[in-house]
Amino acid sequence: MNLTLHLTENCNMDCSYCTREKCPKDMTEEVLYKACDLAFSKGQRAGLCFFGGEPLLKKDLIYKALSYCEAKSEQTGIRFDCKMTTNGTLLDEIFLERAVKAKMGIGLSFDGKAQDVCRFFVGGQTTSSVVEKKAKLLLSYMPDATALATIAPQAVPYYAESVRYLHDLGFSKVSFVIAYGNRVNWTDSDLDLLREQLEMTSSYLKELFIKKERFYMSAFGSKIRDCINGKNSAERCHLGVRQLPVTPDGDLYPCTSFIGDKDYLLGNVFDGIDDAKVIELAKKSSTPETCVDCDLVKRCTNSCGCANRMNTGDENKVSPLQCTYERMLIELSDALGEELYQIDPERFAKEFA
Ligand code: SF4
Ligand code: SF4
Repeated sequence: MNLTLHLTENCNMDCSYCTREKCPKDMTEEVLYKACDLAFSKGQRAGLCFFGGEPLLKKDLIYKALSYCEAKSEQTGIRFDCKMTTNGTLLDEIFLERAVKAKMGIGLSFDGKAQDVCRFFVGGQTTSSVVEKKAKLLLSYMPDATALATIAPQAVPYYAESVRYLHDLGFSKVSFVIAYGNRVNWTDSDLDLLREQLEMTSSYLKELFIKKERFYMSAFGSKIRDCINGKNSAERCHLGVRQLPVTPDGDLYPCTSFIGDKDYLLGNVFDGIDDAKVIELAKKSSTPETCVDCDLVKRCTNSCGCANRMNTGDENKVSPLQCTYERMLIELSDALGEELYQIDPERFAKEFA
């Protein structure tokens, strides 16, 4: 099974849109090993995602988890996969050598040209020059690493420029999402500007496609893929089933935005998962009322209970912000997909089918 280990709630950065609980708590070794055992307890694949706060503040725990899980994989024949989301500031060669050995997938949280708008070290210093250096180091070890950008309203003017910058830096995969939660406030004019920036980004992606450059931007790419394959990526995200977060105390919740709400506690690493509560949660989840008759219902992230909860407080209620964003993304992705298909149908099929 797949677990996201919140190794610490501490972070060396203080981003304006961060939604984590700011209390100084680290995972103990006891919880760590129990979580590893739990990951190996179901199915033929054990997956760990190292997460925080900032997970590299607890490198020692990551090294221990890797050795323990690799040995367990060897003994049991169960496949072990790992990944990590990090702000990158503490990456170094020793860690990257170990990560390469473990075939770890690393997602670098990096907002590109918007980095210094919202993302500062604790104490207020800017982070872009440090993270740029660390991004180059990361790419030298893992050319397929992904840059993960979170765009808050005040960073929207830098959106398209950031996509270009991350590509020029050497990333071939980027993920751009908009910032949700109660620390951001989107206005209609922010959304108008976001549309302009998405249009500029779409033109840039077309330019790269014509030049035959390999570059995958998930915001557009996943919508195009889902359209031609008749799937919905978000639909695959089942609360409490696909990927469970583990808190530093060892508690299990359906997804990150539910952490701390005891009504949604699904068990802990010592006693295991309360299957009855998982089933109860699955029974409660439904398509948001406002979406049932929408033509886009199968192409939109309305079913993401985690985002819904963060935006509306209810996992089955989608926010107007998310609805507007999804509509614009689907419209622009369809237009881009159509253009790319006309330019080179064979390559289009190879990239998106
Ligand atoms: S780096 Fe991540 S965990 Fe740390 S403050 Fe920023 S968003 Fe929060
Ligand atoms: S576009 Fe809006 S109404 Fe339609 S499915 Fe998505 S969130 Fe629901």
